[in-house]
Amino acid sequence: MDGLMMDFPLTLPTILRRAATIFADREIVSRLPGRSLHRYTYADMAARARRLAAALTALGLRPGDRVGTFCWNHHQHLEAYFGIPLFGGVLHTLNLRLHPDEVAAIVAHAEDRAILVDAVLLPIFEQIRPRIDVEHVIVIGDGPPPDGAIAYEALLAGADPAAFSEPNLDEHQAAAMCYSSGTTGRAKGVLYSHRAVVLHSLVSATADVVGLREADAVMPVVPMFHVNAWGLPFTGTLVGAKQVLPGPFLDPASLVDLIERERVTVTAGVPTVWLGVLQYLDQRPGAHDVASLSRMIVGGQAAPEGMIRAFRERHGIDVVHAWGMTEMTPLGTITYVPSSRRAAPDEEQYRYRAKQGRPIPLVEIRARGAEGLVPWDGATMGELEVRGPAVARAYYRDPEGDAQFTADGWFRTGDIVTIDPLGYIAVTDRTKDVIKSGGEWISSIALENALMAHPAVAEAAVIAAPHPKWLERPVAVVVLKPGQQATAEELRAHLAPQFARWWLPDAFLFVDEIPRTSTGKFLKAALRERYRDVILAAETAEQGHAGAVEAGEAGQG
Ligand code: ADP
Repeated sequence: MDGLMMDFPLTLPTILRRAATIFADREIVSRLPGRSLHRYTYADMAARARRLAAALTALGLRPGDRVGTFCWNHHQHLEAYFGIPLFGGVLHTLNLRLHPDEVAAIVAHAEDRAILVDAVLLPIFEQIRPRIDVEHVIVIGDGPPPDGAIAYEALLAGADPAAFSEPNLDEHQAAAMCYSSGTTGRAKGVLYSHRAVVLHSLVSATADVVGLREADAVMPVVPMFHVNAWGLPFTGTLVGAKQVLPGPFLDPASLVDLIERERVTVTAGVPTVWLGVLQYLDQRPGAHDVASLSRMIVGGQAAPEGMIRAFRERHGIDVVHAWGMTEMTPLGTITYVPSSRRAAPDEEQYRYRAKQGRPIPLVEIRARGAEGLVPWDGATMGELEVRGPAVARAYYRDPEGDAQFTADGWFRTGDIVTIDPLGYIAVTDRTKDVIKSGGEWISSIALENALMAHPAVAEAAVIAAPHPKWLERPVAVVVLKPGQQATAEELRAHLAPQFARWWLPDAFLFVDEIPRTSTGKFLKAALRERYRDVILAAETAEQGHAGAVEAGEAGQG
């Protein structure tokens, strides 16, 4: 028997209409390239998004057409987030940190018909332009646009919103697309439906996810050019929160200034950004008032427990660790201490905070090892599989990607996790980074976090190095804090009480920096390449393994 409820499609224009009327006066603040702050309201944003939809339609764009954006986080990008889907177009955010060749290949694969580009990014875009075949280049920012391009403001000024009639959108139609950053291989396109984005926004707003409300001031530091800035521009608009968009200035001083000035309550970004902010605040005790900030969502890479502790204990800021993927719109799990453990000792509470957390509503999880699905015992590792209404069911025009979907309709994430009895996942590795020593798995992330808790260590990445007997052994690549010293022996002694002996890295390499991907993650493939010929302390490894096997430790940890 069918229910007797309206068939009301879940689409982005519904979110925009609500913001334009209910939250007409709520503010959106952007840092412009000249550093000044631009302010306007949701009513202004919605009116301009409508003008953009009208203008793009007048240029000949039609529902289903892809429109690229090559922009920082700012109000015009937010207008594109809503204006492009409003006429049925597909917002295609381009990652401006990728190599120009890669961006050109992505634009060609997506067949973008138009691209919005920041004037300050034109020097990079000019390297891409000759390699792509795009009909309209629209430039956001001051000054005359280059030959053949259109100025965004002139385009909007000339638009006739009265002549634009909104198409009736089906909730399953595509609203946006984003290519994964390709940390472990070629970038693949994910095509988000209106329905997926709306459901993701609703779920994100709930209290045990991002918990966003009208009274919040949300500052996405995570870029709008990758994974929709974790959906925050959509979720923020859904609830009518004030939005604070940092533009091109992502250095600690600029971010702390915005937090103070705009009384930011919730922010989000990758650990690297927050490690910088932490150092900045630590160096200036009492100089900045960041008391407005109640939550800092951290993800994209494992958040070190030391950082989570430091923010809470020294600055009263709750770091909330989350995990997600481009393929998941992107939030998958988020961690809060469960109510049953709120009275537990600090140590135990921090263990929950350092995990990646429980699946958000409407996401289901399971993990698979060599023998099938693994038990939820918090110890057995397996590859995480997920499903839900905001999870991709295929990649865009990429049959090779089909291998990442199971026959029974789950998505294989490529992340190795443990799941505990309460459903908290801990990401131990990506399948391509896990260290397989003598047939047993060693978690590079667990070792990295323990190393980064050492007072002299700024950053650490642990990679697999080839080994004649054990096939792979862990090697730690370490960046020390300025002016600090530590030897391999000291670091080994620091790790020893926390891990089985055979987990301890065979070698410690001290370097000046760890190469990163376009989205700020350790580029382990490059590290493995660079240190392939490292001579390993094979003897230690053999002793460690043999000792561990005798003691019955193998496979623990
Ligand atoms: P890419 O696959 O190119 O890195 P994404 O930006 O979609 O593109 O990254 C998703 C991946 O980032 C996840 O599969 C996971 O490996 C990693 N990741 C995201 N959040 C976390 C986290 N909190 N802890 C550990 N790894 C994370």
